[in-house]
Amino acid sequence: MGKQTGISWTDHTWNPWQGCRPVSPGCANCYMYREKRRYGQDPATVMRSSRETFNAPLKWMDPAKVFVCSWSDFFIDNADQWRDEAWKIMRKTPHLTFQILTKRPENIAGRLPDGWPFPNVWIGITAENQEMANKRIPILLKIPAELRFVSIEPMVGPVDLTDIVSGEEGDEHHFNALFCDVDIEDDVDFGGRTVGWVIVGGETGQKARTMQPEWALAVKEQCCIFGTPFFMKQMSGKKPIPEYLLKREFPGLIAE
Ligand code: SF4
Repeated sequence: MGKQTGISWTDHTWNPWQGCRPVSPGCANCYMYREKRRYGQDPATVMRSSRETFNAPLKWMDPAKVFVCSWSDFFIDNADQWRDEAWKIMRKTPHLTFQILTKRPENIAGRLPDGWPFPNVWIGITAENQEMANKRIPILLKIPAELRFVSIEPMVGPVDLTDIVSGEEGDEHHFNALFCDVDIEDDVDFGGRTVGWVIVGGETGQKARTMQPEWALAVKEQCCIFGTPFFMKQMSGKKPIPEYLLKREFPGLIAE
């Protein structure tokens, strides 16, 4: 079974439902909105996909990574009536690794299935800028999961994963999301959980906002220091990653 998606960090996409509503700056140029409008459909209507699409993973026999809900958000509340069925499919296909990426981590805790955590399901959040990293990572780290990951895409501002600020103004806590450094004084305790994988990518499409290469390099540095796997997806717009940066910083991206 070959790779069935252009998204470089996964093998398949699986969309048991489609449609969504924007929640943060990362949604401004949503690909799904663009594509649905092109075909005269309403992107804000959340619809269950056809039976064939919904059940597609049951036919994928080879081990593969599966990105869940590239055309929606797995934890959007409009999909509550279908999610149990989706969890069952994940449970029946332990040879597949499901990668669930959400911008609604506040919805996760109340929507996990019996028997959670599943060994074949990873949970991630999008942190397109520092504000979203500060808001979503503390929630993510409270969720038990085989692997927790952060996608900084589209990267629209610098992000420091080693200095996440949580809590109310005047009562903030600073912590490192890549390393378990529980500060007893600040009472920040995520049970030893950290972020286990980081993806960085600039925005694509005609209205792409610029990602400075230095922002991506800084995240790579943070990951190197704490031994966290780092995946560089692409620069912003249609620009390639500058050659000197590719050679120096991302040799793994150069085709053999
Ligand atoms: S959460 Fe994802 S699918 Fe939903 S509007 Fe934002 S970018 Fe689009």
